[in-house]
Amino acid sequence: MSHLFYQGRGRKPVLDQARGVYMWDTDGRRYLDGSSGAMVCNIGHSDETVLAAMRAQMERATFGYRLHFETEASEKLAAATAARMPAGLDKVFFVSGGSEAVESAMKLARQHALAVGQGSRWKVIARSPSYHGCTLGALAVTGYSSLTAPFAPMMREMPKVPAPRAYLDGLDPEDPATGHHYADMLEARIEAEGPESVLAFLCEPVGGASTGALVPPAGYMERVREICDRHGVLLIMDEVMTGAGRTGAFLGCEHWGVRPDIVVLSKGFAAGYAPLGGIVADDRLVEPVLDAGGFAHGFTYAGNPLACAAGHAVLQVIEAEGLIGRAAEMGASLKARLERLMARHEIIGDVRGKGLLLAFEFMADRETRAPLPREWRAFERFVQIAYDMGLIVYSRRTRDGIEGDHILVCPPLIVIEPQLDEIEETLDRALTAFAAELPA
Ligand code: PLP
Repeated sequence: MSHLFYQGRGRKPVLDQARGVYMWDTDGRRYLDGSSGAMVCNIGHSDETVLAAMRAQMERATFGYRLHFETEASEKLAAATAARMPAGLDKVFFVSGGSEAVESAMKLARQHALAVGQGSRWKVIARSPSYHGCTLGALAVTGYSSLTAPFAPMMREMPKVPAPRAYLDGLDPEDPATGHHYADMLEARIEAEGPESVLAFLCEPVGGASTGALVPPAGYMERVREICDRHGVLLIMDEVMTGAGRTGAFLGCEHWGVRPDIVVLSKGFAAGYAPLGGIVADDRLVEPVLDAGGFAHGFTYAGNPLACAAGHAVLQVIEAEGLIGRAAEMGASLKARLERLMARHEIIGDVRGKGLLLAFEFMADRETRAPLPREWRAFERFVQIAYDMGLIVYSRRTRDGIEGDHILVCPPLIVIEPQLDEIEETLDRALTAFAAELPA
């Protein structure tokens, strides 16, 4: 009997080893990590540069409380991170994961508003569907009702606007009018709430688990930035999944040349080598907060030297191995393969994503875009079939505006063509086996 519990009672094989894009369980079975865990292990498993940096840090010091010491590891990582940001975003605050980072971004935004005499601003508008974390504050900005509903009495739900689901609404994603259509819903919401009450808009540049790699239509991100500026609303970019190169740019928002006020990082930031997250904020936001007495926020493990040493080495590997360019290149190849699978398998209704943040969505009917019946639990079943064939992919069934089962295929950015062949071939077999099981 295990003393552990996570989401349910189901037990999984026991992980023994992981190297590159492969993982082995204690029975010696091999798995291709086609989702980088949960879109985390961007540089692959057991990278020697990162392990060496962590060993070296471990020999020096494994903990130094942030109110007692600075550490070289956190200073170096902060500098390397700031160097990767759009100009002016150069104040870094470390945490241990994505939810903590989202909380930190919202609290910094609020403290800035107070410091500059805008205490009436407190609402953070987000999108539906969306996922920004599982702590109560992050859930309040999450548009995923099955996750938020049980906790509704314990949190203050924040306003939501629809995600830009052009592919479901039959709108042309290349037409800027489409992007403006969805962005203008944000403006309408700000006006309905009262602009003087709105603190920030929080979104992912490319949707992650909640929307299955939804890429915003042309014109959307730029218009969102304009709308935020017009109403004095801060733009917080949740790059927890998209950051650190996954979409083929260091930050997903770079694809549209949009400069956020606060960037939220985790997952690929330390690529699974240590629990690490962070926010990077505009200097002009942070200075008034520090002048007004400081940021009233901080976790005990913030800036943990081992996590920061891992993060710094991960950034070095990303640079040295040109992994951002590889994400774009391998992503284009994998997307073409997913499109080939869509041509062969009727059940796939959409393929989407950017770089190596890619997904396909099951549909009962491509014409009407009708989803598979919810009770089929297609997302779970398909993942299990692929898993049993030695391929790990990630899936979700969403509602809240995008009703459907999507499968994320997001291998580490070090993936090479023969491994993409293996992913395509296994998905092909898994799709055939899955389709054979479906009710007529
Ligand atoms: N934000 C986004 C976009 C995420 O995808 C996630 C996790 O999946 C989070 C925040 C929360 O991160 P964590 O699970 O590390 O708390």
